[in-house]
Amino acid sequence: MTFSLPTLDENLHAELIEFRRELHRYPEVSGEEVETANRIQDALKKHGIPFQTGFAKTGILGIIKGNKEGPTVALRADIDALPITEQTNLPFASEVEGKMHACGHDVHTTMLLGAGIVLNQMKSDLAGTILLVFQPAEENAPVGGAQPMMDDGVFAEYKPDVIFGQHVWPDLPVGQIGVRSKEMMGATDRFKIVINGSGGHASMPHQTNDAIIAANHVVTMLQTIVSRNTNPIDAAVVTVGKIEGGYRYNVIADKVTLEGSVRTYTQQTKEIVKQRFHQIVENTAIAMGATAEIEYIDGYEATINNPEWAELVKMTAQEILGSELATPKVDPSLGGEDFSRFLKNYPGAFFWLGTAIDGREIQKPLHDPYFECNEKAIPIGVHMLSNVTLQALQRLSL
Ligand code: ZN
Repeated sequence: MTFSLPTLDENLHAELIEFRRELHRYPEVSGEEVETANRIQDALKKHGIPFQTGFAKTGILGIIKGNKEGPTVALRADIDALPITEQTNLPFASEVEGKMHACGHDVHTTMLLGAGIVLNQMKSDLAGTILLVFQPAEENAPVGGAQPMMDDGVFAEYKPDVIFGQHVWPDLPVGQIGVRSKEMMGATDRFKIVINGSGGHASMPHQTNDAIIAANHVVTMLQTIVSRNTNPIDAAVVTVGKIEGGYRYNVIADKVTLEGSVRTYTQQTKEIVKQRFHQIVENTAIAMGATAEIEYIDGYEATINNPEWAELVKMTAQEILGSELATPKVDPSLGGEDFSRFLKNYPGAFFWLGTAIDGREIQKPLHDPYFECNEKAIPIGVHMLSNVTLQALQRLSL
């Protein structure tokens, strides 16, 4: 399959690649994006784009005001890295041990900057305001960076009529955009259970209350939530990912710890899972004569697009990439994303930008120490953000 890929002005292209590689070399994890924020501010200053700071500590709001009054379109990029040691041999691989841009947020930041530069050059012809939201701490669930930015008043002065977010996607080739009219990403909750029994000698079970047996029943019973309690049409996952307990072969365990994750799309299904989860864990432990302590952490909500704005993204992608093949049908992902917090407050859409590495049969996934992002996608991402903005300004002015 071949696509006619859009290009950028040569100087801007070179600047963006250099900017991206610099971010990639010096990743900063959630809440610590100080140098990253400085680099963004320097670039905005250089291009004469006004900005405000002080949102969620390191967050930045770039503001492009058109020549005439009009609607407000916000674009968001997350800027944080992950606590992972990079294993790629890229010439611009991370120079910070234990930190890596393994989710492509360096590329998101670069493309938002690029779109900002392009749109700023057009501002005398524009009616409306464009907000460039550089958001920290996306990887820091459940707190994240989106809600703290809103709490700090990022949209106090300018209220978006629509907001868009873009994420690199290694499962799609360069030249394709993934977008769905509703569910894009899942709600991600997390739990920890401590089962307390009483221990003793392996030969005298009658004097004990075996926490391992109780934990086994809890794990088994939890499997009935998705098979018996949730609507089979609505996706849900309950995973126990970690189990820890016991001392040695001839001792009955007094305590077992379980940790895991709950993934859903709809609020209704999430509530059903959460409620059944508590009932099952508490009552199974009681039935086994043990007790359970539950820590259930509500994570990011599901990322649900507005159909009309998803459609605008889709149409824009087909126009830029010159083919209907540019927007294949994609399944939603149960990964988490705190762009959902923006979408809870403002209409908009989140979409995926194909960044697969050419000629590689199996792509390294996001959050992998070998993850790589195809830089050929950067001009596409810049065009997507800027053209989606122009289309949205036009649509909102009708
Ligand atoms: Zn990410």
